[in-house]
Amino acid sequence: MSHRIPLQDITPPPDKGSNSVELYAAREKIHTRAFKGLFRNLRMAGGALLFLIYFGTVWLDWNGRQAVWWNLPERKFYIFGSTFWPQDFILLSGILIVAAFGLFFITVYAGRVWCGYTCPQSVWTWIFMWCEKVTEGDRNQRIRLDKAPLSANKLLRKGAKHSLWLLIGIATGLTFVGYFAPIRELCIELLTGQADGWAYFWVAFFTLATYGNAGWLREQVCIHMCPYSRFQSVMFDKDTLIVSYDPRRGEQRGPRRKQADHKAEGLGDCIDCTLCVQVCPTGIDIRDGLQIECIGCAACIDACDNVMDKMNYPRGLISYTTEHNLSGQVTQTLRPRLIGYAVVLLVMIGALVSAFLLRPLVGFDVSKDRMLYRENAQGRIENVYSLKILNKDQKPHSYLLQASGLPDLRLQGQQEIRVPAGESLSLAVELSSAPEQMPSSTNEVTFTLQDIDDNSSRIEAKSRFIGPQIR
Ligand code: SF4
Ligand code: SF4
Repeated sequence: MSHRIPLQDITPPPDKGSNSVELYAAREKIHTRAFKGLFRNLRMAGGALLFLIYFGTVWLDWNGRQAVWWNLPERKFYIFGSTFWPQDFILLSGILIVAAFGLFFITVYAGRVWCGYTCPQSVWTWIFMWCEKVTEGDRNQRIRLDKAPLSANKLLRKGAKHSLWLLIGIATGLTFVGYFAPIRELCIELLTGQADGWAYFWVAFFTLATYGNAGWLREQVCIHMCPYSRFQSVMFDKDTLIVSYDPRRGEQRGPRRKQADHKAEGLGDCIDCTLCVQVCPTGIDIRDGLQIECIGCAACIDACDNVMDKMNYPRGLISYTTEHNLSGQVTQTLRPRLIGYAVVLLVMIGALVSAFLLRPLVGFDVSKDRMLYRENAQGRIENVYSLKILNKDQKPHSYLLQASGLPDLRLQGQQEIRVPAGESLSLAVELSSAPEQMPSSTNEVTFTLQDIDDNSSRIEAKSRFIGPQIR
């Protein structure tokens, strides 16, 4: 017996097109209200520290050169006392993997604190909002200004705001490019018109990216563009810290007189002032429940706590809590998933630190010349090699070069080699052997580089020594 699901055609008739639902909603500009509070102070302190690190580090010198510098043309990366070469990029990949895993760990424990407090998009957006407040006034003044017809006052205020935004954008772009080209020279070259065209391009690019992202796009980046906001919800569990409104305490919401016994009137603690909505940088109402737009910035907590103080109600109607707390259960902080993340994170950090500390401070590459071999005037077989020696240390080193692998092997060319700090040196050397001392036409040889100042530092590289066919 077959079962059929009854279907009903709900397509609007063509002549009633005006009844169709508009699926596109234009973005409504968010005018956030200024507020004070503990979490705002924490965020400002964290943001100030990040600003200081970002803008300050690029001006620091270390051993006579910029402390942090991606020297792309020479493919060297300086971080304070350490020089990283392309061969070391596995370590940098390791740092990125550890950072990503650290972010997972923090997300499982504390939700979106990264987004609300330390994400550059948020930090720069808060700064741009501050510029907006300084130039255009508080929330109500800004709403009025936006609705007002064009006037000298409006032009002046908008012009001042955009100029400030652009100035911060230029500083951000210049600093970013300064991590790739020494910033002191870069500033002079840009100002005197002697910089490379690409330098102008990248400074302009990052200036406009900052101006556009923090000035215009703002929450749209978090809601629609950021991949992290999309996948982090799968990392949440019922014990993850979230910003949440307590409906059991807040409802029935509604206005009341301050002195009134609101419980007797059947009201909860929410006075429906909507301040929590007005301060929200993503424009949501946290009282509707946890939403993907919430970046966990706690602005609504600060705003609501201020209201609770004024009403003489206990703080925490909106708070950092967990789903278990909200449903009256106990939050389990040390849960297997979090412990697992912590253990893996610690192991990865340990492995990374060991790899960093144990990495050889000398790199050594040997490549054989394309010419197979030649016979010299004494009848000896000669092979030519190109050697590349990297001194990754911050001081110069002298090395003794030796070769072994055949009983009569002789090394011709420079044997004591000095390489300046953080530099690489390329040189050509010859090996020769009497043909009768060669057991085969292709023989393995070993080049050894011994640090003259440090007996324990020694590195080897293998190659081949080729001669005529042995009959
Ligand atoms: S700020 Fe607090 S009291 Fe005011 S509407 Fe939001 S939750 Fe209710
Ligand atoms: S709901 Fe609260 S915590 Fe979430 S983004 Fe808005 S203000 Fe920040």
